[in-house]
Amino acid sequence: MNIASHAFDALMDITARPPVVFVRGEGSFLWDHNGKRYLDFVQGWAVNCLGHSPPIIAEALAKQAKLLLTPSPAFFNAPSLELAKALSDRSCFDQVFFTNSGAEANEGAIKLARKFGALHRNGAYEIVTFDGGFHGRTLATMSASGKKAFEPLFEPKVSGFPKAQLNDLASVERAINDKTVAVMLEPIQGEAGVWPASVQFLCDLRELTSTRGLLLIVDEIQTGMGRSGKLFYYEHAEIEPDIMTLGKGMGGGVPLAALLATKAASCFEHGDQGGTFNGNPLMCAAGTAVLRQVAEPAFLKSVADNGLYLEAELQRISARHGLGEVRGRGLLLALDLKMPIAGSIVTQAFEDGVLLNAPRPDTLRFMPALTVTRQEIAAMIDSLDAVLAKIGAARRVA
Ligand code: PLP
Repeated sequence: MNIASHAFDALMDITARPPVVFVRGEGSFLWDHNGKRYLDFVQGWAVNCLGHSPPIIAEALAKQAKLLLTPSPAFFNAPSLELAKALSDRSCFDQVFFTNSGAEANEGAIKLARKFGALHRNGAYEIVTFDGGFHGRTLATMSASGKKAFEPLFEPKVSGFPKAQLNDLASVERAINDKTVAVMLEPIQGEAGVWPASVQFLCDLRELTSTRGLLLIVDEIQTGMGRSGKLFYYEHAEIEPDIMTLGKGMGGGVPLAALLATKAASCFEHGDQGGTFNGNPLMCAAGTAVLRQVAEPAFLKSVADNGLYLEAELQRISARHGLGEVRGRGLLLALDLKMPIAGSIVTQAFEDGVLLNAPRPDTLRFMPALTVTRQEIAAMIDSLDAVLAKIGAARRVA
């Protein structure tokens, strides 16, 4: 492939990208236009839960593409009915609205909570969200996010998202008033650097919101679909939220996300919600293929076991190089580097053929395919060990 023939300027320049073009993926590996192979611990930002281009998704898409692409969102189609039923059977939720991205699912969750407030809470509309939280890039979901870098952008924001602090129940109580309708959080704050809500905090939040008649919304776009070793993270706390959003791993690489609600919270009326591509058969067929595999108890156990192995190996590397804690659960983990060297590590690892992610200057995040093998984890750890040794030596010289 002649990379020079590509019109790079034709794409909006929304982020810094390395000067290669990725052309093929298989399992835990990606190949660029030069034929160089990369071991991928980013996986499309925790998207490809079954690895790159798994045959079951290719087959589900090919089969469905020949049958029916999109009848219209105003007609029923079989794959969306099948996937909605499978999701409600495997969760504490009764009804599903499919979307095309996580942000759109969260936008729907915000609208659903506001509708609930209009119907049942005297017009209450405020949703307590958290400093450090990330819920997407639409205007409302940026406003709901607690990301510092978003603060000066695209003013004026959507109002109605007072902030509390993760794992601090008193801060949530202080943010609640008679305009509050819901509390919304990521069970693990992923983009902020993998900061888990404690099981106790999740239980306390459920009790507090139930007592006050408020909705509890969990954004499981990153933590759901098996990533933590349970199908949904809320299961670790044995609570039942009122609303959940899913995305990322749900389509295993294709754009599919969802808003799920209990019968009591599912209060949209005709005209409140919709979208041209929402619940289209093609994406839902892929979603069913993914869910069938990920929901298997043996699959979830392997995620939990491999997560413990990766955690132990990261702790070993951390001790060896004098770094900080390892955080997270299952195959969503972070290594605290205690110094701002994450960017240099990601750049060097890329050169060495390993894809890593740095959500913050002092933090590495690991989100491999849920099908990653022990050998692949060991290979990533060996590479990281070598990169850390090189960077450590360079720092000592400097
Ligand atoms: N919520 C969480 C917790 C996320 O991690 C993300 C994406 O990183 C989103 C929402 C937004 O999803 P999308 O990028 O599909 O709009």
